[in-house]
Amino acid sequence: MADGRQELTSYEYRQLRARILAASDVCIVCGHGAANAVDHITPVSKGGARLDPDNLAPIHGVTGCPVCLRKCNSEKGDRPLADVAQLVTSVDWFAGP
Ligand SMILES: [Zn+2]
Ligand SMILES: [Zn+2]
Repeated sequence: MADGRQELTSYEYRQLRARILAASDVCIVCGHGAANAVDHITPVSKGGARLDPDNLAPIHGVTGCPVCLRKCNSEKGDRPLADVAQLVTSVDWFAGP
């Protein structure tokens, strides 16, 4: 666990986070904008890649969502995105518009 903590503040991770948020700030959990953090789509503890841009997506961090006020990152916790998205939003991320 100490390892993961270190990774979250590493230079590579911060660069990656800035890149993800520059590309999109739409939260993967609630679907609103203004996300200020990124999270792993497949948790690292479940075998997800830690520094793979494809496994990282925007999410509302400790300050929560300004629109729905959810603390998306703590709601998601260590669960895969598919679990959480079904719980907190009716948006089907895999169906398209
Ligand atoms: Zn959110
Ligand atoms: Zn929201």
